[in-house]
Amino acid sequence: MVNMTEPIVICGAGIAGIAAAYHLTVHHGWRDVVLVDERAPLSLTSDKSTEAYRNWWPGPDNAMIALMNRSIDLLEEMADVCDNCFLMNRRGYLYITADPARVKSLVQMAERAEQQGAGPVRRHEGRVDEAPYQPSPSHGYDREFIGADLILDPDLLHHHYPYLAEDAVAALHARRCGWFSGQVFGQWLLEQARRAGARVVTGRVTGVDLVGGRVTGVQVSGAGYRETIAAGRFVNAAGPFAHHVANMMGLELPLFHELHLKLNFTDHLGVIPRDAPMIIWADPQHLLWSDEERAFLAQSEETRWLVDEFPAGIHCRPEGGRDSPIALMLWPYHTEPVKPIFPIPEDPEYPEVVLRGMARVIPALSAYLEHMPKPFVDGGYYTKTPENRPLIGPLPVEGAYVMAAFSGFGLMAAAAAAELLAAHITEAPLPSYAASFHPARYDDIDYVTRFKHWTDETEL
Ligand SMILES: Cc1cc2nc3c(=O)[nH]c(=O)nc-3n(C[C@H](O)[C@H](O)[C@H](O)COP(=O)(O)OP(=O)(O)OC[C@H]3O[C@@H](n4cnc5c(N)ncnc54)[C@H](O)[C@@H]3O)c2cc1C
Repeated sequence: MVNMTEPIVICGAGIAGIAAAYHLTVHHGWRDVVLVDERAPLSLTSDKSTEAYRNWWPGPDNAMIALMNRSIDLLEEMADVCDNCFLMNRRGYLYITADPARVKSLVQMAERAEQQGAGPVRRHEGRVDEAPYQPSPSHGYDREFIGADLILDPDLLHHHYPYLAEDAVAALHARRCGWFSGQVFGQWLLEQARRAGARVVTGRVTGVDLVGGRVTGVQVSGAGYRETIAAGRFVNAAGPFAHHVANMMGLELPLFHELHLKLNFTDHLGVIPRDAPMIIWADPQHLLWSDEERAFLAQSEETRWLVDEFPAGIHCRPEGGRDSPIALMLWPYHTEPVKPIFPIPEDPEYPEVVLRGMARVIPALSAYLEHMPKPFVDGGYYTKTPENRPLIGPLPVEGAYVMAAFSGFGLMAAAAAAELLAAHITEAPLPSYAASFHPARYDDIDYVTRFKHWTDETEL
């Protein structure tokens, strides 16, 4: 029998820790939940996100699709309750290619996602007997939009998306996808958790007390104070510092970090339609330079990388309402593992590189190459496990849990991940995907051997 009066301390009031507090208090009635964070809630990584969501995770098995489907179910339920206060939309993710050879892999990906539970695939090849392609509504989260549309007829593609590069030949429109305000969502969860009894303490977790191998308290220090909060349970939701916090209990976590930046672009010419979906270029590319510029850049060791091939995956979406000029653009082209340092290091080339890359997708953006609007870049770290799946569940110290490694999907996964964590803590029945995210999965040598051969096709 679980003692639900026992205090639980959660280290980290990012989206992971807040969602965990919400589930424990609101859905399980756990009384004494304390969120400890040295920063303002949601201010380290969780407010740097593109705030997008998708059930589009074709992979080696259906675990990620199952987790995300459950998370989107929960997001929809919460949006119903709060009258869509966090502005969830269902615009979809549009993966576009200009390479006829890539069309086959888009089709295969769609078929795999369908088999793994992402919903039915509809093909649009320009035949008269086909069901018509329906663009997504700008607002709301119409539950009918599921699965994916394969737009294999270039005329149909350019009819609906006339702003795309003329040589685009096909696209895959994944439908149970879109975006929402992560800040409003997180604040809403926090407010509900607070009303149900959760407390927020501003301070740094500096140690976890263990007696006889089990958690008995959490040491916290803040401006001019130091205290030990008595607690039989402790959740490590420390985002990019989850490994430090694990070390406090003598544990190691299999984590590494990538720096991911985001360009907030003022599109004052209105090139990107305000009702556009998430636009993703599925092809690698070379940046658009004149012959002279290319020759100049190729001369120097420092600038040669600018004429090399860049990876697939540049993406953008409009941000804000109809009158907003803002578009978000991202391109993870430097993803080598790094140590998380705050404030994040600056990358002066990022805005121009991203704009040039995006102009390959939406050629009218080239109008900005001469006089680029003042760029604003922010970002944070993707905290990742080797196979890019989160850690959710108990640790090998009694009373300790982890809810971390949310990579580029923490906002979209938070609801189902928190539900899963709360099920571990309260000993409620676990969903089918629990083992895929359990921290002890690395003890299974067969699993470790298997995932080394996985390829991550959907890294966005
Ligand atoms: C550029 C970018 C784009 C992204 N786009 C998306 C997207 O479109 N969709 C999506 O779902 N996800 C996206 N993500 C990922 C998402 O933002 C993260 O997965 C998520 O925010 C991680 O949340 P978290 O709570 O684990 O970590 P964080 O938000 O970093 O929170 C961790 C908290 O722990 C606190 N903490 C750490 N150590 C201590 C300590 N010792 N004591 C006290 N407090 C401590 C920190 O202060 C921090 O507040 C993106 C991320 C980036 C960087």
